[in-house]
Amino acid sequence: MSARRPAVLLDRDGTLNENLPQGVTRAGEFVPIPGAFEAVGRLTAAGWPVSVITNQSGISKGIVTREIVEAVHARCRELAAAHGGRFDAFYYADDLPGSGAPRRKPRPGMILEAAADHGYDLFRSYLVGDSSRDLLAARAAGCTPVLVLTGRGREALAAEGPAPEHVFEDLAAAVDWILARRS
Ligand SMILES: [Mg+2]
Repeated sequence: MSARRPAVLLDRDGTLNENLPQGVTRAGEFVPIPGAFEAVGRLTAAGWPVSVITNQSGISKGIVTREIVEAVHARCRELAAAHGGRFDAFYYADDLPGSGAPRRKPRPGMILEAAADHGYDLFRSYLVGDSSRDLLAARAAGCTPVLVLTGRGREALAAEGPAPEHVFEDLAAAVDWILARRS
């Protein structure tokens, strides 16, 4: 049995790609955030496993199809691969906001699933995202929450509640910090 490994878990919209009010509903709406996929490449080069954890309630609202969500994930894999980056897996929850569903962030279901599937040690892992839901899900799962100020990050920072401890301009800066921290 192999030892559990720390991982970097990433939110998708607002962290890897620009956030749109409705989410990405067509492949043409997918706009990478500058430096984000290059940062995934740096994580892979440093030996960090990376998975994506994303709420996609648009599926249940009927504004995006599963096929589009999966095509976007295939595009993410290509963009990361162009920088030597690799994702273990993409987890998405189609549950509606307010459903309290265990997989939908702020609940930790998808993170726990990723850990079980890939042997992640959540207590040594990070979850990087642009929303307070990401921070809450990270805390609930036992990983270190990291807020990025891309997407809705500035709103999340201004929101009430405990101030996030680790805040960075974007994913590239968050990854700089994670890599420097571990070495
Ligand atoms: Mg987001």
